[in-house]
Amino acid sequence: MSSSRRDFLKIASLSAGAMMLNPFQLIASATQSTIFSGNKMKLRFRPYTLELKHVFTIATSSRTTTPVMLTEIDYEGFTGYGEASMPPYLGESQESAAAFLSKVDLGQFNDPFDLETILAYIDGVAPGNPAAKASVDIALHDLIGKLLNAPLFKIWGFDKTKAPYTSFTIGIDKPDVVRQKTKEAGEFKILKIKLGRDTDKEMIETIRSVTDQPLCVDVNQGWKDKNFALEMIHYCKEKGVVFIEQPMPKEDLDGNAWLTERSPLPTIGDEAVQRLPDVMKAHKVYSGINIKLMKSTGLREAHKMLTLARALDMKVMLGCMTETSCAISAAAQLSPMVDWADLDGALLISNDIYRGTEVIDGKVILSDGPGIGIKKI
Ligand code: MG
Repeated sequence: MSSSRRDFLKIASLSAGAMMLNPFQLIASATQSTIFSGNKMKLRFRPYTLELKHVFTIATSSRTTTPVMLTEIDYEGFTGYGEASMPPYLGESQESAAAFLSKVDLGQFNDPFDLETILAYIDGVAPGNPAAKASVDIALHDLIGKLLNAPLFKIWGFDKTKAPYTSFTIGIDKPDVVRQKTKEAGEFKILKIKLGRDTDKEMIETIRSVTDQPLCVDVNQGWKDKNFALEMIHYCKEKGVVFIEQPMPKEDLDGNAWLTERSPLPTIGDEAVQRLPDVMKAHKVYSGINIKLMKSTGLREAHKMLTLARALDMKVMLGCMTETSCAISAAAQLSPMVDWADLDGALLISNDIYRGTEVIDGKVILSDGPGIGIKKI
């Protein structure tokens, strides 16, 4: 961005009606812009607990809440919103995020558009902490979108009408509960089911007794033998499954590569793919990758992962944790460029505090608001 453009933004932000300033007002206020040249970004954060509508069960545990950290970055009258979602099994917590964010000093930067410098600094504050880092990245992206008065998907040149349908996850449960949940998910054009246990075929048969909708399958590394995995993928294809996520343990590169070479369905690396360098490692091991902001440290690296995966002719899926509409709306800015979206996270909670990207008849509908396009409810 040119310095004259930055000056415009600083000048424009002097007024509450910033984007409605006429040229005369701009000239009149130009002399005042220097007053704000020393302004600093201020980061604030607070813990929040998401209440889940239904008990969420994975292989090792069940839970009814998800801890998150909500961030805000203030700059020259604008506020960017961010979020870290931290399901306990991933190792981050409100305590670890607070400890990380307390070390962050954004006051040393004068220009929020210098994302490469700022986010390299954030990444270097401490190792790990991908969700806490994402909460800063998201708030910064929201802030610069607001400063430019444009949604990120437009700044990036994406067509919002190309946003995909999102899958909706049907959790593991007793057959009658699964049937009921499947019936209730009628608006969704693709359903996601979790496999990797000894009830896999029963789960698929139960869902197929209710609906013919396309399915996607997340094995969460649950198939340990490659020949068994290949047999299961052939079975899944017959049952109308469109892709298979993380079929075998992430450490088994040879097994996953063997499987991908023979699989009649695309395979997607999720647990195996956290950040940018993992995309190269996943090439020829999986057909595609699952990008999540809470793994990638936010939008900037997620965008790079998307670009690299496309250059390698890999499929791209966009996933999420249970999150408010803040982190979901942030991820959704990338959704026009992906093959599949799994952005049902905000639909699973009962105490969302933002409104932004919506899901209507199963389709991801991006808001035209600036930045990540959210408003506090
Ligand atoms: Mg997964």
